[in-house]
Amino acid sequence: MAIAYLNGEWMQPEDARVSVFDRGFMFGDGIYEVMAVYDGEVFTLDQHLVRLQRSLDAIRLVSPHASEEWRSLILEAVARGQENPAYLYLQVTRGVAAPRNHVYPEVVQPTVLMTVMHAPVLERQNVVPLKVVTKEDFRWGRGDIKVVSLIANGLLKNEAIAEGFDDAILVRDGWVTESTAANVFIVKEGVIVTPPKSNYLLHGITRDHVVDLANEAGLSMEERSISESELLEADEVWVTSTGQEVWPVGQVNDQVIGNGSAGVVWQAVDDLFQASKRKSS
Ligand code: PLP
Repeated sequence: MAIAYLNGEWMQPEDARVSVFDRGFMFGDGIYEVMAVYDGEVFTLDQHLVRLQRSLDAIRLVSPHASEEWRSLILEAVARGQENPAYLYLQVTRGVAAPRNHVYPEVVQPTVLMTVMHAPVLERQNVVPLKVVTKEDFRWGRGDIKVVSLIANGLLKNEAIAEGFDDAILVRDGWVTESTAANVFIVKEGVIVTPPKSNYLLHGITRDHVVDLANEAGLSMEERSISESELLEADEVWVTSTGQEVWPVGQVNDQVIGNGSAGVVWQAVDDLFQASKRKSS
């Protein structure tokens, strides 16, 4: 049963209503988190709570809850939702302010929405590598804040799909940032590489988890910039996100990556990732 929480009340998601003057609706003035629930446990919950606070601080919105209050609300949502696996979506906007004005009030009552919805099981025997196209990253310069305004990401992904690809990998000044909704990794001659954290890309929880898993396993791992040509010449390319976990890419533009199927390093890291999910539950 999917469930929603809106400003202190529990309801069915389709019954949740917010004002047209909500700044989230008017200005995209809000932030969000998406968490995965495996066997009733919220995967990497602590890391999501830290990023939630970071995003709130970045948009100068005073958190309506202390960290432990967030934790118990989230756990209550999961318990009420009874979905497995599930995605927990959490959104905090700057609340209702009328009339419409770019200037936001200093003191606001934030709008807090959570939903718990059923998630698909990502079957490991059915991992079809993605086909992606590179596109100029024209988004704003604060991709590190998880803001609800995702129009650029949506435009770029839809353009990629219209061109016959699954997604776009974004390139800024010749350097790979991320995909429209995931971080990017490459493998070259056995070395795993992902771009360093910066203001141009989301500091993905899955990215950090994969970096940690690779380091703990003694795999060769570097956080450094990746040029577009390095991406095209990589032996393996993966994307990582809460929704996609670690997913291989088999083609970038007209360039087949490796032999087009999931690579051996991906397989090793995915095994570690799947095992870490079981350990957390
Ligand atoms: N980059 C962008 C633009 C995203 O939207 C997301 C997730 O939605 C990610 C990266 C991956 O972040 P996470 O691993 O925390 O889900």
